[in-house]
Amino acid sequence: MAEPQVAKTHVEVRRSARRRRMVSAYREGDKVVVLLPARMSKGEEEHWVAEMLSRLQRSETRRRSPARTSDAALLARCEELAERYLDDDAEPTSVRWVPPMRTRWASCTPAEGTIRVSERLRDVPSWVLDYVLVHELAHLRVPGHGKDFWELVHRYPKSERAMGYLEGISAAAGLGIEED
Ligand SMILES: [Zn+2]
Repeated sequence: MAEPQVAKTHVEVRRSARRRRMVSAYREGDKVVVLLPARMSKGEEEHWVAEMLSRLQRSETRRRSPARTSDAALLARCEELAERYLDDDAEPTSVRWVPPMRTRWASCTPAEGTIRVSERLRDVPSWVLDYVLVHELAHLRVPGHGKDFWELVHRYPKSERAMGYLEGISAAAGLGIEED
């Protein structure tokens, strides 16, 4: 998966005069709000924004996805997603977890109908894994990354956000993983 348009995490910093030292962050729609004490310097702000983004990501990562447990669960999830977003017209012959690939999150061989998902994704939130599955399922219908392909993928409403998430973990881990 190689993205023409990748969503960057949009961060809104709110400073409060009442805050002394406490820093906190939460997601609000598509953005992350970081709350900082009013007196923090610009340098401290940069440090804390980066720190809070990575903490938030770690806590989201801990929420386990139901599909991660087995290949059978992965396949069942694909069936649900195909029915919901792809007109029930994307039927893989097999979907398997595979050891981490160096440059890919997942891949598929449309001719054989097989999908492989990197074990690196065992720990992402389920909505991110769902995006990866929808992406690979869409390749069973459209091989390349043309307009038709993205039209299918974007039927899954969290696609854009999931792409940003994956880019974030790739960058944070220095992995250099592009979508296939
Ligand atoms: Zn792709």
